[in-house]
Amino acid sequence: MKKITIIIPAYNEQDSLPFLYERIEKLINSIENYEFEILFVNDGSKDKTIELIKEYRKKDSRISYVDFSRNFGKEIAMIAGLDYAKGDAVIFMDADLQDPPELIPEMIKYWEEGYDDVYAQRKSRKGETFLKKFTSKMYYKVLQTLTNVEIQKDTGDFRLLDRRCVNALKKLRESQRCSKSMFSWIGYNKKAIFYDRDPRIAGQTKWNYRKLINLAIDGITSFTTSPLRISTYIAIPTFMALFIYFIYVIAKCIVTGVVIQAFQATILLILFFSGIQILLFGIVGEYLGRIFNETKNRPLYLIKEYNDIKETNED
Ligand code: UDP
Ligand code: MG
Repeated sequence: MKKITIIIPAYNEQDSLPFLYERIEKLINSIENYEFEILFVNDGSKDKTIELIKEYRKKDSRISYVDFSRNFGKEIAMIAGLDYAKGDAVIFMDADLQDPPELIPEMIKYWEEGYDDVYAQRKSRKGETFLKKFTSKMYYKVLQTLTNVEIQKDTGDFRLLDRRCVNALKKLRESQRCSKSMFSWIGYNKKAIFYDRDPRIAGQTKWNYRKLINLAIDGITSFTTSPLRISTYIAIPTFMALFIYFIYVIAKCIVTGVVIQAFQATILLILFFSGIQILLFGIVGEYLGRIFNETKNRPLYLIKEYNDIKETNED
């Protein structure tokens, strides 16, 4: 029998978990011919999340869990899920039931037809503000313009991945992760299915705009070096303008014999160029920071426990 692992990153989800477990259990009991593993990654929750998971595991042997030593963020929780998943395929799902489990049979159907990555694309996003919808739309646009790899629109992490995608993703061990672009980068046969995204069932969203902006910057810089080229694009016309202006000033001096008093222009120019320089250094710093983080070569996460077994960090 084929095994499917449902990976659920959870951070302070004590209010959602009872709903989630009930709905997933009902669904997977109704699917025959497949074995399921429900793998929770407890991302350093400060509430009763891990206690609940352990309780479920006592009753239901299909449940596994990885317990992080602290909060590492959803992206890292996802790679930990891939590391510990035992299935022939995995499905990523949020803990707040924004990703309806009822889509799973359709995902499995396409997987059996030979697709490696069956991703759920949102038709609508209920319960999200206009600003969030707008910014996420703009973000996709920018990301797509900057890269050669096709990015899936209106798609989150809710998807089924075949084992070969899982193994491929496990090879990408950079510390600043952007799963969205990694799913695109690995390629393989992709298939979209469509759904309406529900509002979260309980509890609070863990995202704020600061986190989202960080994720967006990570996404762009981890995926492409083309922002480095932006600096070139800005620099070329700037230097041409500078050159033309210089010729103009010299020529005017020669023709009229008047030394132009251009202190205002000078101030403007200084501001302009220092502005550009700051921008360019910012971009360089961005990549430098990434190199710094990657060269530290730390493990992506540390765990306290995997399925009741204490981690000692000994090899
Ligand atoms: N999450 C996590 N670690 C974090 C933040 C979030 O594992 O640091 C999980 C969270 O428990 C949920 C999923 O990631 O299962 C999506 O989070 P959330 O619903 O808060 O994000 P939103 O749906 O609002 O984008
Ligand atoms: Mg959510």
